Order: sequence, then structure tokens, then C-alpha cells
Amino acid sequence: MEKDYEEAINLLQKLLSERADLKATATAKVEAITAELQSASTDGKTFNPVERVKSGFAYFKKEKYDKNPALYGELSKGQSPKFMVFACSDSRVCPSHVLDMQPGEAFMVRNIANMVPPYDKIRYSGVGSAIEYAVLHLKVQQIVVIGHSCCGGIKGLMSIPDDGSTATEFIEDWVKICLPAKAKVKAENGETPLPEQCVLCEKEAVNVSLGNLLSYPFVTQGLVNKTLELKGGYYDFVKGSFELWSLNFALSPSLSI
Ligand SMILES: [Zn+2]
Repeated sequence: MEKDYEEAINLLQKLLSERADLKATATAKVEAITAELQSASTDGKTFNPVERVKSGFAYFKKEKYDKNPALYGELSKGQSPKFMVFACSDSRVCPSHVLDMQPGEAFMVRNIANMVPPYDKIRYSGVGSAIEYAVLHLKVQQIVVIGHSCCGGIKGLMSIPDDGSTATEFIEDWVKICLPAKAKVKAENGETPLPEQCVLCEKEAVNVSLGNLLSYPFVTQGLVNKTLELKGGYYDFVKGSFELWSLNFALSPSLSI
């Protein structure tokens, strides 16, 4: 991996030295992007990313950190979250906000369409290491996989052509983790319009992820020992609702909140 990185740097340097004009172009591009970021307008106000980060942290420090010395003092010594949460990278579905989870409460993985891939040391070591750490070291009691409304990742999965061909570098290969969910929705609701199929798939994909969790030996061991439970969730930000259901090897009826 390090070699790849060095090769990329060498290649870039070679390109830049071979083409003197490219260096100027690259610099100009970076400057243009920076200027664009600094002048991008939201609500008619100038957006300054550095100021946004600074003021965000200043607010957090004054209103949260400094006002909760007991919590942050405890967290400085370690973490013992009861939850591990899988959520989508979508900027609208942050579990800390939606479930009001405080620092220290949930060990989180966020990725495209909140998917849990099956146990695979080569392809999915990033997710695997997070599950291993959460279950074996942090000893979380619950793993919750949360799907959501209007998920672009699920729409992408539902839109992959039948021949399986892909047009993206990573996205479609990733969301194919939940192909069994797509197959189930297509088989049972093939005639319904695509937007409705997507909603069904957003929920069914959560079940596929819960099933995939069973391929991790330390997860099944936790279930057998009753130290760990698996739950599925669905956050609908159009209706403002949340559903939660359990997986105890068999699916239980869902609880709407
Ligand atoms: Zn999503």
C-alpha cells in the first residue's frame, strides 16, 4: 500500500516536471477551488469553511464540553458504549442527532447505505475490524443497523442493470452487498413503481446486513452467550418516524416510534 502511495507521488512529480505548464494549471485550479469554497453562498451569506469549523467547535466547547466536566472527564479515561450503530453516510441521518446519542454512547460505522458486508478479511477489513473491536474489546450489548428514507445508495443498487454491469469505481460494487435484498423486492414487488421498491429495499437491506453480521464468529458467539443483540432500524426523515425491530435469529414484529 505504501508502495502504491510512493508510486502515485512519483507519477505526479514526473507529470509536473514533464509539463511545466501543468504545475501552473494545478496551482490555479487549487486556488480557484479554494476561492469557490470561500465564496460559496448559503442563505445569501458567504460560506467560510474555516470559520464554520472554528465557530462550531467554539460553540461545542462552551455549551457542551465546559458544561459537562463529569461526562468529558469520564470519557477522557476510556469508552464503554452499549451500542454499535451502522448508519448511512448521508448527511441527514446522523444517529447522534436522530437518536440523541451523546459522546460515549455509540461506536459507529457510517458508509454508503449503512451496509454490513459478510465476513471477508481481504475485501472488508475496515468494517470487520470495527465489529471485532466493538464486540470483543468494547463489549457492546447491541448492534443496530439503521436504514433510512430516500437513500441514494439503495436507489443505486435498485438501478444496477440486470446484467450486473457497473459504471462507478466503487459505489455499485459496494452496494451489491445487499443484492439479496434487491432480488427479494424484485421477486415479490416487481410490478410496483421504483420509488416504492426502493423503500422496501431500504428496509430489506437492513435485514441482509443483520444476516451478514451472523457470519462474524464473535457476533454469533455473543448472541449464543446472550451478551449481544442485533436490531434493525429505519429512520424516515420525510414522515419524521423511526421503526425498530429485533433479530433473535428470527425476525420479530417491528415497533414504530
Ligand atoms: Zn443512504
